[in-house]
Amino acid sequence: METYDLVILGGGLAGMCASVEAGELGAHVLLLEKQDELGGSTVLSSGYMAFAGTDMQEAAGIIDSTESLLDDMIEVGGGVNDLSLVNTYGCYQLGTYSWLVEHGIEFRALEAVSGHSVPRGHIIDPHQAIQSLYRRVKNFPNVSIRFCAPAKRLLKNNEGRINRIVYDFNGVEQTVLASKGVILASGGFAKNEDLLQQFAPQLKGALRIAGGGNHGDGLMMAWEHGAWMQDLPYLNGTYGFHPTATGAVKSQGLAFYKGGIIVNQLGKRFVNESISYKFLGKAAFEQPEQISYQVWDQTVMDKSVFDDPLYDFELLRRRRLLYVVDTLEELADCIDVPLEVLEDTISRYNQGIQNGEEQDFGRRTLTHNYGKPTPIEKAPFYAFESTVAMLATYAGIAVSAAGQVINPYGETIPGLYAAGEITGGFHGAGYMTGSSLGKAAVFGRIAVQSALVEVII
Ligand SMILES: Cc1cc2nc3c(=O)[nH]c(=O)nc-3n(C[C@H](O)[C@H](O)[C@H](O)COP(=O)(O)OP(=O)(O)OC[C@H]3O[C@@H](n4cnc5c(N)ncnc54)[C@H](O)[C@@H]3O)c2cc1C
Repeated sequence: METYDLVILGGGLAGMCASVEAGELGAHVLLLEKQDELGGSTVLSSGYMAFAGTDMQEAAGIIDSTESLLDDMIEVGGGVNDLSLVNTYGCYQLGTYSWLVEHGIEFRALEAVSGHSVPRGHIIDPHQAIQSLYRRVKNFPNVSIRFCAPAKRLLKNNEGRINRIVYDFNGVEQTVLASKGVILASGGFAKNEDLLQQFAPQLKGALRIAGGGNHGDGLMMAWEHGAWMQDLPYLNGTYGFHPTATGAVKSQGLAFYKGGIIVNQLGKRFVNESISYKFLGKAAFEQPEQISYQVWDQTVMDKSVFDDPLYDFELLRRRRLLYVVDTLEELADCIDVPLEVLEDTISRYNQGIQNGEEQDFGRRTLTHNYGKPTPIEKAPFYAFESTVAMLATYAGIAVSAAGQVINPYGETIPGLYAAGEITGGFHGAGYMTGSSLGKAAVFGRIAVQSALVEVII
């Protein structure tokens, strides 16, 4: 039987960081990728990574710290995050940023997004990142990648240790031995309707945008061997997609984090727009016919960021996804809401934020604790019909801070490790932008280190 030290399942960011780490540590590794290419949800992502205290922030005059990053993460996560995972992220985040830079990943800009008290979304081009890691891996004689090779089941040896993987290759079932460990890096289940129906029936009707191979295979393989689950009650979609959005083509805009408001079909606001776009998604789904619009003015439009995955509002305009009008009367007509209600909504909002805090929903900032909203008053006015998409599941199998998969009794499952979106516990009740790619990179490497040195907790 073919034998390796480590077998890694999945070639997204977690699996690729794990492969490079293992390659550098001299381990004999096989990466199995279900699809015919690498990247999973990673290459569809907006590319924001949450790091604090970086040279980029320093150059931009932004004062940030690991402590502030963790505080935000825990606040957004409703205080139910697994603190051992969050603190581990804190210990490794800055080193991981440097590691990624040293391994050729290009960070091109900084923005404040969901959950950030300062701009700390370090933006990568996810394709460039995966390609860069792949180039490294190809140079390691000790690391092999097999494409179109979906893992199917995990098997234990007589001592109860997971040490074999059954997978399909060229239409034939194969079994491979992993003497030091199996690392599950197979992503979430945003493309598995059965699992979504089971665990997130509230998201019926939400768009599904995720890697084509993200069916939760790794979760099921881990469940068979007793893995515990975390964060299932907090499955949420993400707000801000045009209803026609299908996938990689960008049809997302977060004008509300630059000062836009969100109104329902009655022309009324229904939420504090500065909160996490996951919670915005929940609120938007409760509105009549689940329809809502982001509304903004030229002051906000002027903050459009060229080529940014979330803030390029000019791109949305060029793609004819925006209503652009000169008066509120025309705006009300375009989005079919009562004019007098829309005027009242905007006038109350403008008055409120000019007084420092609007009374209806308590908005004081643009995103989380960052930025100051401006009144919506300068024509032309813009509206963007927006809905919710299931992008990333986040709820996942329980792991220790060393990336070992654990059972409901808190015991490790020997030989089994996991990293990336397949793991739960880290985000708690809410997700801070950039923390998912961040955790994939941080914990992908940690899982390898643990497997190779047999960390026992
Ligand atoms: C549109 C969108 C925007 C996003 N934006 C951001 C963002 O800006 N910042 C952020 O932090 N997060 C973002 N996310 C979430 C983030 O992209 C993912 O959570 C992260 O990329 C997960 O990385 P991963 O390596 O764990 O999984 P993935 O990148 O999904 O990789 C998993 C891989 O495993 C493979 N696989 C699955 N099953 C098997 C099997 N049985 N055998 C072998 N291989 C298998 C898959 O084919 C896939 O290649 C976004 C997600 C989407 C969809």
